Amino acid sequence: MKIFRSISEIQEYRKSLKGSIGFVPTMGALHNGHLSLIRKSIDNNDFTIVSIFINPTQFLPGEDLDKYPKREAADIKICELAKVDAIFMPIKEDMYSAIEPKILAPSQKAYILEGFKRPGHFDGVLQIVLKLFNIINPTRAYFGKKDAQQLYLIKDMVQSLFLHVELIPCEIVRENDGLALSSRNIYLNKEERTKALNISKALKMASKAMMKGEFQSIAIKNIIRKTMQGLYIEYIGIVDRDFNKIDKIELNNSIILLAAKVGNTRLIDNLWI
Ligand code: AMP
Repeated sequence: MKIFRSISEIQEYRKSLKGSIGFVPTMGALHNGHLSLIRKSIDNNDFTIVSIFINPTQFLPGEDLDKYPKREAADIKICELAKVDAIFMPIKEDMYSAIEPKILAPSQKAYILEGFKRPGHFDGVLQIVLKLFNIINPTRAYFGKKDAQQLYLIKDMVQSLFLHVELIPCEIVRENDGLALSSRNIYLNKEERTKALNISKALKMASKAMMKGEFQSIAIKNIIRKTMQGLYIEYIGIVDRDFNKIDKIELNNSIILLAAKVGNTRLIDNLWI
């Protein structure tokens, strides 16, 4: 497995590759969620490149940029065992210059829900994803449905800017008890870990209510709110797959999105219906 820190070197390597390239962008501290994207890419492409970069522009002042988990040696091992072809680990000074054009995510869809709580977050996400796509020039890129709004906005960018990459959405990977895997789960102590379970439990309760015929967004939100008692709820959103708010859940076209704080740790989860 090759490890590149320099942009020009990975570009040279990329040019030498003949065949399809699967690309998995990450911020590291890799877990089984990331690994599921990596495996899918390896299965469906001739080469797989994983990037590990904690992108400063997607963190707001006061967020966890400085303490975001770093597990470089373990990440390299995980990629090696998975038979990744190359890891790209750039430094921020090479990725960003002091003055440069900015990408603005469409405000109607990027400043609601996650983007309402983290204004500007998706501008930073699109900026880095576009840069990474331009460096790697992948055939396919793999993103988790766990970051549903991110996936939607990247899809929109790919369409609007006519980028030549196929996006592959990947299912959310969970612990056996339901907690969605996240690099930030490392922050949780035992008590918080137990409390955090109420997030996925709330989505299960919503699912059960829908099986009994309840599709009104208000009613579903109430059920979720009750199950999440004891957590600091940041938002409960019910949208269609284009991220328009909906009053009634439609089968095969809706997403329920949750964000909550457990202690100081902010967690998100969602359910695609
Ligand atoms: P991150 O390192 O958090 O930026 O995540 C990198 C990619 O992994 C993103 O496309 C995420 O949506 C995806 N991802 C993170 N957690 C999970 C999970 N539990 N299941 C599936 N994909 C995930």
